[in-house]
Amino acid sequence: MKKFFFQTVPVLHFGEGCLAELPGQIAALRASRPMIVTDRGIVDAGLIAPVEQTLRAAGLEVAIFDSVVADPPEKIVLQAIDTAKAAGVDIVIGLGGGSSLDTAKVVAALAVDGAQPLAEIYGVGALARKGLPTILIPTTSGTGSEVTAISILTTGETTKAGIVSPYLFADVALLDPALTLGLPAAVTAATGIDAMVHAIEAFTGRHAKNPVSDMLAIEALRLLTTNIETACSDGSNIAAREAMLRGSMLAGQAFANSPVGAIHALAYPLGGIYHVPHGLSNALVMPYVMQYNLEAAAPLYAQLADALNVPRGSENSEEARAQQLIDYLEALAVKVKAPRKLREIGIKQDATSELAEAAMLQTRLLMNNPKELTQADAQRIYDAAW
Ligand SMILES: [Zn+2]
Repeated sequence: MKKFFFQTVPVLHFGEGCLAELPGQIAALRASRPMIVTDRGIVDAGLIAPVEQTLRAAGLEVAIFDSVVADPPEKIVLQAIDTAKAAGVDIVIGLGGGSSLDTAKVVAALAVDGAQPLAEIYGVGALARKGLPTILIPTTSGTGSEVTAISILTTGETTKAGIVSPYLFADVALLDPALTLGLPAAVTAATGIDAMVHAIEAFTGRHAKNPVSDMLAIEALRLLTTNIETACSDGSNIAAREAMLRGSMLAGQAFANSPVGAIHALAYPLGGIYHVPHGLSNALVMPYVMQYNLEAAAPLYAQLADALNVPRGSENSEEARAQQLIDYLEALAVKVKAPRKLREIGIKQDATSELAEAAMLQTRLLMNNPKELTQADAQRIYDAAW
């Protein structure tokens, strides 16, 4: 068998009410001064209160940084690092969606004496050492950021850049589906499709897919596709919420090892330039990138179609089976009412050339795509998605 490498977060707590494990996990990491890194939306939704109470009830003093914004710019990350240092915290708790968790990881890495400047840690493996311990608590079922060693920040005005390092893995991920009960249907749909894309792109990754990431991706996709409709139509259904959170976590573990490809590469400029939420960006370009990839990825798409028991058509070729997967996912996206065209969210038709140019900067991701992709290909995909 081919050699492979797989790595994930060492400690996972999963299940309704597992937030109660937080103080014990902080103590196990020999820390006592936590800072919560989150955004105003989480505070306003009342999600920080139970976390704060859990910590205060355990006698812990809590610092709070709640100024994270979507597509976090460097300025905000640097502010959070200053806040952590000034408060003398010894552990960082990330609470929220991908932006808050990604920010928390970088804050933990750099809020220590002698840390590298932020500008030096972009790319793969540039972060030299581990910083403060980190506990990550997701409130969406999408990014899987709680189990990945990746942070995506916005550099300059519009470019999304990734920091990838094993030192960004959290020490503990704490996944309580009760925290996701209040997610609106539109966010549930978009973040759920993002998680599906993580599973699909991990499964079709050109360099690092392996038996463990494959197994995780298949189970993730099964959980996500069978529960997304219920999670959207009946948000208080804890079983559906639990399945979505488990699915997004498994997909996160898969793509933390077998990184994502062109769907994400083409999604990022929509976030960087137009601030389209990450999940929605992925949902919009997914079918068109998959169609482009079909000729190279047909055997793998067909395997996924079989694993998901996608209904068969009259034709039995591998390509036909792969097409059935694409059609099935598109139908699911329609059912959960995700916007299906760039023009529906206000993107102008003449924006596609700028988007294509920006997508080509995502070389770290494009190299994982099952099929080579040029700027002209990217533009054709955006035009189709428009
Ligand atoms: Zn994603």
